[in-house]
Amino acid sequence: MKPADATPNREGDLGRVIVVGAGAGGMMAAGRAAEEGARVLLLEKTDGPGKKLLVSGKSRCNLTNARDLVDFLPMFGPNGRFLHGAFRRYFREDLLAFLGRYGVQTKVERGGRIFPASDEAADVVGAFRRDIEKWGVELRTGVRVTEIAVQGGRVAGVRTERGEWVAGAVVLATGGATWPATGSTGDGYRLAAALGHTVTKLRPALVPLVVREVELAKAMQGVSLRNVRLTAFRGPAEGIDPALTPVKDIGRGTDVRRRRGPVIESRMGEMLFTHFGIGGPITLLMSLAVVEALEEGPVSISIDLKPALTVEELRARLQRDFDEFGKRGFRHLLAGLLPHKMVEPFLELTGIPPERPGHQIAAAERERLLSLLKCLRFNIRGALPLSSAIVTAGGVSLDEIDPRTMASRLVEGLFFCGEVMDLDADTGGYNLQAAFSTGFVAGRAAAAFLWDLADQQ
Ligand SMILES: Cc1cc2nc3c(=O)[nH]c(=O)nc-3n(C[C@H](O)[C@H](O)[C@H](O)COP(=O)(O)OP(=O)(O)OC[C@H]3O[C@@H](n4cnc5c(N)ncnc54)[C@H](O)[C@@H]3O)c2cc1C
Repeated sequence: MKPADATPNREGDLGRVIVVGAGAGGMMAAGRAAEEGARVLLLEKTDGPGKKLLVSGKSRCNLTNARDLVDFLPMFGPNGRFLHGAFRRYFREDLLAFLGRYGVQTKVERGGRIFPASDEAADVVGAFRRDIEKWGVELRTGVRVTEIAVQGGRVAGVRTERGEWVAGAVVLATGGATWPATGSTGDGYRLAAALGHTVTKLRPALVPLVVREVELAKAMQGVSLRNVRLTAFRGPAEGIDPALTPVKDIGRGTDVRRRRGPVIESRMGEMLFTHFGIGGPITLLMSLAVVEALEEGPVSISIDLKPALTVEELRARLQRDFDEFGKRGFRHLLAGLLPHKMVEPFLELTGIPPERPGHQIAAAERERLLSLLKCLRFNIRGALPLSSAIVTAGGVSLDEIDPRTMASRLVEGLFFCGEVMDLDADTGGYNLQAAFSTGFVAGRAAAAFLWDLADQQ
């Protein structure tokens, strides 16, 4: 292959590794291939490396998690098995030591989440920048790779909008298809598919959900609820049987996996209402399961606003409140039970006159309130699009990648790392650790591949 522009392709460029994408995985891969002695060219289409890292964790970068490997892998669902070898070779302690060498100290927060002590994602990107500089990686920004060139079943280089580069090995580290402004626009899927790789269905994961009852959600927009239980059910909201609401969490990373039957997932924690539906941590965690279930039929959710109390306990509490403050109006009583912004919507939903005194509230009315507090129902219309998700579920099929080296099983000299592969995990630092670990393995394996090539010649 000949260079199409003035880009120098010196003799021996087949001995070069090209890493496509300077994100979390790509920077790690480039550094490790160079550390192994390979000449490395890192091509990045945006104007700088680590754009998504910079926005990760609300710009604080939740870079990994303190959980043990046995608890870490299930966060990726069944595909987590693929990562076992990569994590065994390069895991949290290695990453923290690496960052420490560049002066980045870290801290552990709630849920084992690990952040830079400075709370600055930019410090993590700075460490990677220094690392690639140290090992002599050539970084070119503003270069978008449009094709991976293959000759005789083996990688020969890349084509870009600014010319062609020859290489003996290519690491595809283009990320997913979320937050396109950070550069991840799904190019990697097209590049891999053009070489015959299977790309499994792409879906948004860790994404807010859109409800059909938009007006109701909008009326409560901005209300953040802690310690509520969110349960996703198959079928429309009218059909939800509140008695099926689990008392324990169900879903990826919990003790209880998803199962057949009406309950899809259930999580207790924090959520919020938005102008289109629901968001917040527990919504994001169950979003992929909901997106998948929506492909098979209607999905609804129920919010248990008082999960610490059983129906009987809540009934007794309401009765007590209504008796004790019998002269107060219903609006006032509701204000003691719910955040301010939910009072008006609940007045409307219960149909109980706002000024009706507590002692005049009939048993049937109390039961109506009780059922709304234990099971506030919404029909799910869908999720926000892939571009608004935190990660892309789906990607290059893991069946076609060697988990020991991240090498393509179809094209010699091609390696993968990070989100471009069919891997996604819950929030908590797992996705970035996967990108770093697979980047480590892919970078080293790409260099080793070159040395094997050289030995053969
Ligand atoms: C808002 C947000 C917050 C997040 N927070 C966290 C968090 O706190 N913790 C966590 O674990 N995960 C988090 N994630 C997920 C995590 O950031 C990603 O999973 C991770 O960055 C994936 O790493 P990667 O190297 O595969 O891809 P990326 O980091 O996306 O890097 C891919 C790079 O490839 C470049 N590229 C793409 N196509 C081409 C091309 N054709 N030619 C050249 N270059 C190209 C892109 O410009 C980009 O720089 C967050 C994601 C988002 C969107």
